[in-house]
Amino acid sequence: MAIALRKPKEIDALRAANQLVARAHALLAPMVKPGVTTRELEREAERFITSEGGRCSFKGLYHPPFPGAICTSVNEVIIHGTPNDTPLKEGDNVGIDIGVELDGWYGDAAVTLPVGGVSDEERCLIEASSATLYSVIEAIRPGMRIKEISRMLEEAITAAGFTPLLGYCGHGIGRSPHEEPSILNYVEGHPNQGPKVKEGMVFCLEPMLCRESGESRVLEDQWSVVSVDGLRGSHYEHTVAIIGSRAEILSLE
Ligand code: MG
Repeated sequence: MAIALRKPKEIDALRAANQLVARAHALLAPMVKPGVTTRELEREAERFITSEGGRCSFKGLYHPPFPGAICTSVNEVIIHGTPNDTPLKEGDNVGIDIGVELDGWYGDAAVTLPVGGVSDEERCLIEASSATLYSVIEAIRPGMRIKEISRMLEEAITAAGFTPLLGYCGHGIGRSPHEEPSILNYVEGHPNQGPKVKEGMVFCLEPMLCRESGESRVLEDQWSVVSVDGLRGSHYEHTVAIIGSRAEILSLE
């Protein structure tokens, strides 16, 4: 399927869906403290998104159907963690990934947050994932290949001393939550091949960082993705639109 090029009015609709995602994140961030459960975060996100006329788009997605309204990935779970009743504790990290459908358009963004005070090692990991995301978004220009974005993501992740999670990727977004193109956090195949970035493209970039091994396995819940090294990871994500000569973040308040 060809990569969709969105008209300004369509980008406005995608911006609205992503603004709802951003506002849900802003609501949850101050709740992340020792003692809160990921189920409580999920309930608050769903209450808010529903009250604003949106729908939590991850719920029931794919097979087996994703059981949560949002993804909550604690410590060694890097992505796709499912909300539960275990209280977060000081020193944990929690990845919160929120997907929304609003008026038939989709939004998607994720953060990893420290719970209370965390170790320097932990802070460094979390900061590397957000710094990677923002630096690569700044560097995107129409005309470059999508694979060039993957190369920049990989370079930033490895320069910070971490390794990208293999087999998972960023993606186009629009009328469905996951569309073409797939945007890996590392280069696979020849870097000078494949589609180019064009005005009107809207996609999600989501660096997923592991400490040692990028090889992963999925836990018994059939969703939670961990590195085979068993160590903690970090994940950040924004939805961006190519407007004029740059990538504008749609999922920031
Ligand atoms: Mg995504």
